[in-house]
Order: sequence, then structure tokens, then C-alpha cells
Amino acid sequence: MRTDLPTGPLEELVDRFGIETVLLATVDVQGRLKGKEHDARTLAERLRSGALSPEMCGYVLGTDLGMTPPSSGPFSWQSGFGDVALLPDVENPRVLPWLPATALVLADPVSGGGPHPLAPGTVLAEQLHRLVRLGPVPLVGIESEFVLYEGTARDAAAAGWRRLRPAVGDNSDYALDQPFVVREFGRRLRQVLAGADLPVEAVKGESGHGQVEVTFPYGQAMDACEQHVLFKHAAKTIAEEQGLTASFMAAPSTGVGSGMHLHVSLHDCDGPLLAADPVHGIELSELGGHAVAGLLTVLPDLAPLWAPYVNSYKRLQPHSFAPARLAWGRDNRTCAVRVVGHGRSLRLEVRLPGADANPMLALAAVLAGIRHGIAEKLTPPPAATGDAYRWLDAPLVPRSLEEALGRFEASALAGELLGESVVAHLARVARLDLDHHAACVTDAEVERGLAQA
Ligand code: GLU
Ligand code: MG
Repeated sequence: MRTDLPTGPLEELVDRFGIETVLLATVDVQGRLKGKEHDARTLAERLRSGALSPEMCGYVLGTDLGMTPPSSGPFSWQSGFGDVALLPDVENPRVLPWLPATALVLADPVSGGGPHPLAPGTVLAEQLHRLVRLGPVPLVGIESEFVLYEGTARDAAAAGWRRLRPAVGDNSDYALDQPFVVREFGRRLRQVLAGADLPVEAVKGESGHGQVEVTFPYGQAMDACEQHVLFKHAAKTIAEEQGLTASFMAAPSTGVGSGMHLHVSLHDCDGPLLAADPVHGIELSELGGHAVAGLLTVLPDLAPLWAPYVNSYKRLQPHSFAPARLAWGRDNRTCAVRVVGHGRSLRLEVRLPGADANPMLALAAVLAGIRHGIAEKLTPPPAATGDAYRWLDAPLVPRSLEEALGRFEASALAGELLGESVVAHLARVARLDLDHHAACVTDAEVERGLAQA
């Protein structure tokens, strides 16, 4: 090992925790970690001495869930599939206690000497920057649901994805007498995340069979999203280790929906901005009203960012606790935007995103909506009271990816808020999912039509 260079944080971490493997990874469009495994000491030394300029095939920024590239654009076959350069965050390596002797270095894709404009982290950073330039700084807490199934994903594949058995056979909303496997899963998840400096606020049983909800303390927008990506990686890894599958599909079965609710508060140097009375109040300030109005205006146009797949829209059903109308209300869980808390903690719970969304893109859409509402001083419609699924004044959320994508591609507002190239890029990726499903005959079609058609 060379000794003429100062030791960096990665080497310190490697020594302190006996790290053998380092994952050098970035976040793909789907919100997954993608990268390579490296020998820890070799990577640390090569990064420190500048001997390594990490790269990865750029298509990871443009493929669908199954790694299929789009038919046009910078990540298509026409591109020749060149590499994208990565800028590793060497100052902030992190131990991943859910993998043996492993640490992570996150890396940002770069192009032309700056952040790659189509990387999810860049899309979020841009929206964050634009909002902050207007004044408000957001703090974000993420609440994520998923369903635990017995058996690993390989077991499910071997069984033709049929007869999946949720790890709990009842509605276990708030249940504290969960089966042993679920309790053990929750305990191990909390333990490893705390070991990675990602403390969980709470783990709770949810209403879907086998459904679990994990909440995280609020923090800076980018940190909250990066942490969520790691949490998902941990949850899937631990589930597999325990002979389970953790599914983050938005609608893993008929009648079950998993959401990723984004809690957002706004602040400036004088304090919180959402409450009219920042000490105890539950009423929104004028700026808070603009933010709500912006969300309701913009989010339907940006739906592929918070509901990216054909399946995502099957979650948005009446009386499911996932929103079906673009309504807002005070502490009202039937709304798309729930104003919750009071005074300093008054925040907007945006309930539209599904558990399947990339948190960076979903939050980018939310911040774009808030900024638009504030910049245009939009006025929110009257708050919904009672059952917002029957609040007929409020428009329905997009009913399918096809509808959402058509709207997204035609939306001048989407182009203005995100930039035309980001819209075109995300639309190309979403269209891959649409095209995939357009050609698939589903079990439901066969069940309904085989004998009756
Ligand atoms: N499962 C619901 C959803 O998909 C949310 C339930 C809850 O209120 O936590 O958004
Ligand atoms: Mg929940």
C-alpha cells in the first residue's frame, strides 16, 4: 500500500470495520442501486491516488425494470451503449451491515464536466435548487409500505408467480402480535439500518395481508431519498436472507396498495413556513395554500414520476386509503394531499406516490408542484371534508399509465418545470413498461375470457 498520500475516509472505514467489499453504485431510473463490487483496499487506494476514474454502461440511466433499453434516445441501441463517468462521493462511505464486511460509495453520473442531466439525483437536485432559490427549504420524511411474502423471489418464479403467500394472513394494521417471522424481519431491519446510520422512526403492521410500513425521521431532501434507496436494498436483502420476499409493487395483488407517502415541510431562516400560526396552528399560511394548490395542479401532469408503471395505477382505488381524487384536506387520509401536524410540525403528506416510485423522481415532482404553486400564487380549491373519494368537485387521478403518459408528453407545464429532455427521457422509459404490458396476456384475461368469450 502507498503511504505518501493522506488516508481517506474510505480507508479509515475499511480499517475500522474490517471491510472487504465496497459497492460503488449509482441510482437507476427505478430507484435501485446499480454498480460493481470492488475489493475494498484496492478501490480505496486507487480512488485516493486518482488511478481510477469509475465508469459504468450509461444505459443503467435509461432502461426499464427488466433492463430493456428504449428504442430511441441517448440510451437506445443507436447510442452504441457507451460508458457514463461516475463521480464517487468518497468523503461519505457507509457501512452496509446487511451485507458481510461491505461498505457503499455512492456515485453521481457526470457528463460534460457536470452532473448528468438525466440522472435521477440530478433531476431532484435541480428541483430542489429551483425551490430554494425562491426561498423555502424543504424538509422531507418518507413513509414506505411493502408486502412480505413467504418464500424468496426465486421460489415465486419457480411457482410461476402464482399462489403467493403473504407472511401474515390477516389485516394486521397496528398489530403488535405479528407472526415471529415478521417480528424478526422488523427487528433485523431496524438493527442493520441503525448500524448504517439510517435510524428508523417506526415499523408497523399495515392493513394488506403481509403489509408492513416503515417511517423515517425527517431530514434534508436528498439525504431522505438516498436513505430510502438504501432502506429498500436492506429490506429486500434481509427478506431474502430470511426466506421471504419484500415486494414494493404498488399493487402486488388485487385490492392491496403500497404507498410511499412523502411528508414535506417548508422553512426559511426565520422558521417554518406552512402554518399560519407557527406555534400551535393547524391552518395553512398563504404560502402553504399556494403549495397545496401547486401540488394539485402539477402532480397529475407529472404522474409518471410518482406512478411509473402500468401496475402503479391499480393502487389508486376508491376506499383503499390510496388517493383516487386530487383533493386536499386537514388530517384527512382519503385525500391526495393531507395537511397534518400543527405549528412547527405542520406538513404536507403527499399520498399519491406508490412504493414502486423512485423517491428522487417522486420528490422532484412534488417540489416542482410546490414551487409552481408558490411562484404563481395559486389558490387551492376548498378543502375536502369527510370522504374525499366522493368529493366530486375534485378531479380523478390518472386512471392508467397510458392516460398519464399521454398527459405528461403533451404537457407544456411538465416541459417548463422539468425541461423537455427530462420529460422525453422519462416518457421513453415509462413507455417501455406500457409496451411490455400491451403485448402480455394476463391471468385475469384468461380467467374471464377462456370459456366465456
Ligand atoms: N396503503 C395506502 C396507500 O397505498 C396507505 C395506507 C395508510 O394510510 O398508511 O397509499
Ligand atoms: Mg400506511
